[in-house]
Amino acid sequence: MRRTVSDSYAEINRQILELADAYRYEPWRVRIIDMQRASVQFPNPPVAIVPKCSNTDINYFTLVMQANGFTFTTSELTSIGSLSHKLTSPYGIEQSDPDGDTSSLIVSYDGNPIPDFGSIQLREIMGKPSAYYFPYKDTRSGQPLSFYLIVNPYENCAFRCKYCSRLPYFKTPAPSIQENIQLIISNILAVVQDPDEVKFINIITGSFPNPEQEMTFLKEVITAFNKAGFVESEFGVYTSQIYSRHLFEQLRDLGVIFFTVTLEATSSDARSRLHARRNPKRARSFEQTLDTISVAEDVFPFVSTTMMLGYEQADEVKRNLGRLAKETRSTVNHYIPRVWLPGQLDLLHPSATNLKYFVDLFNFIERNVNVGRMTSNQLFEERFLIPRFAMRYRS
Ligand code: SF4
Repeated sequence: MRRTVSDSYAEINRQILELADAYRYEPWRVRIIDMQRASVQFPNPPVAIVPKCSNTDINYFTLVMQANGFTFTTSELTSIGSLSHKLTSPYGIEQSDPDGDTSSLIVSYDGNPIPDFGSIQLREIMGKPSAYYFPYKDTRSGQPLSFYLIVNPYENCAFRCKYCSRLPYFKTPAPSIQENIQLIISNILAVVQDPDEVKFINIITGSFPNPEQEMTFLKEVITAFNKAGFVESEFGVYTSQIYSRHLFEQLRDLGVIFFTVTLEATSSDARSRLHARRNPKRARSFEQTLDTISVAEDVFPFVSTTMMLGYEQADEVKRNLGRLAKETRSTVNHYIPRVWLPGQLDLLHPSATNLKYFVDLFNFIERNVNVGRMTSNQLFEERFLIPRFAMRYRS
């Protein structure tokens, strides 16, 4: 059994106060960064708090939590069906009143209650990536808002990136894509009053072995939704296979308006370390990714760059992101990778074993790279007149 972080209770509290002061963050915000890098754990079998845990599809959970009104995600390390999980976290999450509200929580560190949060709640538990969901919720009722839909019709991936949060689920055979698309569409038609309510469909999915197959798949998904009456919808894609302008233009002509580039790390060394040897093509250079972002910005109104932290030295990240800020209009959505497996913990750069590393990079990206720029998400929310009470789960 290995702990994800080694700091004692007294030591981590000292670090949190010191970093909060040095970087002008509230201590509870630094605590959230620590809970994300350390993962969290249910110390007791979570039957009451996790009604879905009887689902054998679920091996690892992503928890969507809200602390002091701020929503964040973290990984949960209890492996249902096999409590002999190999990683353990000092952070424990328990229901504050076993007979009451299942979402109201107590957080502890090595068994010591954490008093940092005025309120902390569990909003959602996600296991195997869902085939579809509505990410925006009404903050008052908690009901999903149907204008923004995420679909995930391909439950496999030609790549096997070592950090991938879907890795534990790739072993099961993927169902037929056409059948999956039709099943997803009929399920969505059963929950929305009218397909016109859906204004944006983000296609998040694993990658196909080559750009031709990836394009065929994306066209199939978009065509199927259009045929089923979702004619008011525009589309977004996450893809690790499509880089060229002519394919971007084909996607735009199909109705794609939002393109997301995932930047796992900025240096070639780190990028090749993150990908399985059988997929060397996945390890594109940082320069190639900068080109992709620039071309995508020419073609699509919204381009988002997603960066994972922890795989290389902070100075290297800062140098390269400084270049990205100069050469593109992109802002960076940064997050701490969710770690479930010991091998994923071992991928982190040796310098990323301390909390200061992550707080320093959060600070740099928020106050140096993104400062003065509207994020694609903000622009997108303006364009779609997303109501202020809508809440989106973010990493
Ligand atoms: S391309 Fe994406 S889905 Fe596929 S293995 Fe890598 S991170 Fe996972």
